[in-house]
Order: sequence, then C-alpha cells, then structure tokens
Amino acid sequence: MARYNDSVCRLCRREGMKLFLKGERCYTDKCAFDRRGYPPGQHGQRRIKFSDYGIQLREKQKVRRIYGVSERQFRNYFAKADRQKGITGANLLILLERRLDNAIYRLGFATSRQEARQLVGGGHFAVNGRTVSIPSYLVKPDDVIEVKEKSKGMQRIKEAVEGMARRGMPQWLALEKDSLKGMVKGWPDRAELTTPPIQEQLIVELYSK
Ligand code: SF4
Repeated sequence: MARYNDSVCRLCRREGMKLFLKGERCYTDKCAFDRRGYPPGQHGQRRIKFSDYGIQLREKQKVRRIYGVSERQFRNYFAKADRQKGITGANLLILLERRLDNAIYRLGFATSRQEARQLVGGGHFAVNGRTVSIPSYLVKPDDVIEVKEKSKGMQRIKEAVEGMARRGMPQWLALEKDSLKGMVKGWPDRAELTTPPIQEQLIVELYSK
C-alpha cells in the first residue's frame, strides 16, 4: 500500500467519523476526532456539500482506510466480490474481514489493523500450524490462528489481548485466551459490521459507473 505518513487521526476527521485506526487511544479522551470532529486543514470547518459521486467516493475511501488497503487491492477485492454469488457489497466487506491482519485485530492480538499488519509481517502468527506472514491472506472457517510459541511472551500482544473486552469479539471468531489461539467458526456476518457504519451500496454504485 502507498505509505501514508501523516497522522491517521486526520483520516477520521476527513471521513467525519471515528475509524478506530489508533488502537487503545481511540477509546480515550485523547481521540482527535472527539476533540475536533471537523475535517483537517484551513477550511475544515466550512460546510461542504458533496455530489452523489463525492458521497460514493468518500464511502469507498472510508472503507479502504478502515482496512488499510491500497487502491489497487481494493479494486481487486471488488472485482472478486462482483464475481461471487450474492450481494456484491456484502461480499466485498466479507472478503476484507477475512484478511488475516483483520482477523488478528478482531481476535484481540493487536490493538489496530496497522499493528496487526506489522505483527503478521514479522512472522508472529501461524495459521493451521504454518507461519503466515502475508497480511492479505484470507482466512476461512475451521482455520486455527495462533501466536507462535516464540512470540507468546511479547508484551504488546499480551496487552492487546487484555484490552480486547472493550472492542468485542465477532461471532465468527473465538479466542482461547490462555493459549493465545483463535478459531474461525464461520464466515463473517455483514450484520455484525456496524462500527463504524458502512454503506457498501455506495461503493457498488461508484464502481458500476
Ligand atoms: Fe485517532 Fe482513533 Fe480517534 Fe480516529 S478514532 S481520531 S484514529 S484516536
């Protein structure tokens, strides 16, 4: 993904909602969006009226930023979702949810997807007993995701798991906290993806032009 070096909090302010990109800080009173909930920049406090295209584009950017994927990756996910049976928008979100970095975050092994990506890249996790260091790896039902033995003592993983209670665990995953092992119980459910709210139909409309 093209590297974004500015503060990720600006992305929340740009999208007009909390995207939870910064781990534990997002749940504290240090959250930049809670303090300044208007777009960044000199003209940030001006009211902007978006066109239909602008609204669709913003929704796409928002989802891309939540999952931390590049424009090209996002397009590829959309193309794949479009080829699948069912509702394209829901398929898209389910594909993004199945990314290993997202599953690691959802299981509570990392406080943000960005941190999860770093940890996966560092070879700290195994899927079904084999090391996987590719954040975009797609997990599937019955997969077992575990922290590798050599990494079980890592403080940042332990602390992330401790803070898990406040983030909540989706139904499609289960965690054995003591052994730092996660199980994929089923496919992600679109109905559970409510924070932050997403209107995936706008993305479908954008790409259908
Ligand atoms: Fe920053 Fe998190 Fe607040 Fe977004 S939700 S502004 S990433 S602290």
